[in-house]
Amino acid sequence: MRKIVEIDLSPEEYTTPELLHAAAARRTGMTAAEVKHVEVLRRSLDSRRGIRYHTTVEIYAGEDFVPRDYSGHYQDCHAKPPVVIVGAGPAGLFAALRALELGLKPVIIERGQPVEQRRYDIARLGRSRVVDPESNWCFGEGGAGTYSDGKLYTRSTKRGNIDYVLQRFIEHGADPSIAIDAHAHIGTDRLSGIIANMRHTIETHGGEYHFGTRVVDLVAQPEQGQLRVVGVRDAQGNTYEGVAVVLATGHSARDIYSLFTRRGWALQAKPFALGVRVEHPQSLINEIQYHRSPSMRFLPPAAYSLTTQVDGHGVFSFCMCPGGVIVPAATGAGQQVVNGMSNSQRNSPYANSGIAVTVSPADVPQYADHGALALLRFQQEVEEAAFRAAGDTISAPIQRLTDFCQNRTSQHNNKSNYLGPTVGSPLHELLPPFVVHCLQEGFRQFDRKMHGFLTSQASVLAVESRTSSPVRIPRDETMQHPQLHGLYPCGEGAGYAGGIVSSALDGINAIEKLANYQS
Ligand SMILES: Cc1cc2nc3c(=O)[nH]c(=O)nc-3n(C[C@H](O)[C@H](O)[C@H](O)COP(=O)(O)OP(=O)(O)OC[C@H]3O[C@@H](n4cnc5c(N)ncnc54)[C@H](O)[C@@H]3O)c2cc1C
Repeated sequence: MRKIVEIDLSPEEYTTPELLHAAAARRTGMTAAEVKHVEVLRRSLDSRRGIRYHTTVEIYAGEDFVPRDYSGHYQDCHAKPPVVIVGAGPAGLFAALRALELGLKPVIIERGQPVEQRRYDIARLGRSRVVDPESNWCFGEGGAGTYSDGKLYTRSTKRGNIDYVLQRFIEHGADPSIAIDAHAHIGTDRLSGIIANMRHTIETHGGEYHFGTRVVDLVAQPEQGQLRVVGVRDAQGNTYEGVAVVLATGHSARDIYSLFTRRGWALQAKPFALGVRVEHPQSLINEIQYHRSPSMRFLPPAAYSLTTQVDGHGVFSFCMCPGGVIVPAATGAGQQVVNGMSNSQRNSPYANSGIAVTVSPADVPQYADHGALALLRFQQEVEEAAFRAAGDTISAPIQRLTDFCQNRTSQHNNKSNYLGPTVGSPLHELLPPFVVHCLQEGFRQFDRKMHGFLTSQASVLAVESRTSSPVRIPRDETMQHPQLHGLYPCGEGAGYAGGIVSSALDGINAIEKLANYQS
């Protein structure tokens, strides 16, 4: 017999198998001996009134538990029709895995390097402080998702089958607990191995990878008064052709937006968000979130999610990394960009998150002449200003949070877990005034929600500018570009997704539309 029930558990009960077993037996009126296995199907930690795990469990009595099989159903695609996929980030990789299930041969074109090589390129960036524009924290196998916290939740549940995405991660080496956690995360230390395993699956079933290959143009031919995209051209002049092209180049591929502008292909400006990364001692966030509960020792490093409105702008926390580090996420020379990540154990003594302010074209009318690229130009200029403030290096401008909120230059700065040097800098003068105002007021409001958040123990680092794409590549209901038949823009760079899961789902949706349309 199997029975599914919901149980609220204390942290001790949840983390001690015998106590969990006993609680499940009590809940169903069975004896502990009658319960053969308790499988947790869903769990979420609630610290609002006392600290409790809300769980859904499946209780096995008189029946053996059989672990779930997470394998995908891939076809041998060596001789199947090729589809060109540009970009090996979450959108491109999940499009490729789904292509194998649908009987299409993915040909993946990626400007960066395989994860094994990319690791060395990133280590070199740390030493030389010079960004390689082809292989960095955002570019390379796995895309921006490889060196991330690997948080696997999305605010949107409408886009598709999130379980399918989680299953593909588990199939390739993620801990099966990601399927049950309300706020699952993988950790950057695990992601490279998972991405390499995905490559093995894709190649074994007939897919191809072309690393170190930057796409500079599309190969298109006239068809019934339109252009039909049949492939791409790389920087060396080689072409790669297929039945169609999935464009999944991420929000940092500024050269792709330039290509569209040069060729006169439609693009649109899209609201995005810009701000700072705030960093606190993790112990302080634990105390605030867990109310100094004695159960704290059973609990994971605490997270938070904050959002408010200031003068019509959304101000919100983004990509919160408990026990994390801050990384230099620029993709080219002359830019300073920060982002955050953490290992699976989330065991650094710092908590960080992006705190960003929504920006729309109306906020920066002085950039209107740049048309669809207005917000991109604004984003670039803020990143360039931060780079200059850092002394023309990828050092991160830093300031105490309380000083930032009081328009005061910091005399001393806190230690930071930024992976590089930091440079004391008056961020209240460096960032655009409307962003500064919204951030300052936002921090005051956040302190009312989380007492102690606005503290001199916290720092702000600049600039958190790659939260989402400031440009959209339009597409119609078939997910093709309206002027470019056979081109399927998808993922974060196309402006339809934000984060690993929603980008993966968008890649899956694109390949499904493509397979449907081509058949
Ligand atoms: C440090 C960091 C931490 C993050 N943490 C999280 C997190 O915890 N959870 C979460 O949900 N999201 C996180 N994100 C965001 C997440 O990584 C992105 O939303 C996601 O990777 C977007 O997927 P994508 O496939 O659309 O694009 P990308 O991941 O950006 O991939 C695009 C790929 O295209 C390649 N490319 C670009 N231009 C070209 C070209 N011309 N030719 C060939 N290839 C090209 C790039 O090299 C890249 O590999 C984080 C991002 C960063 C930088």
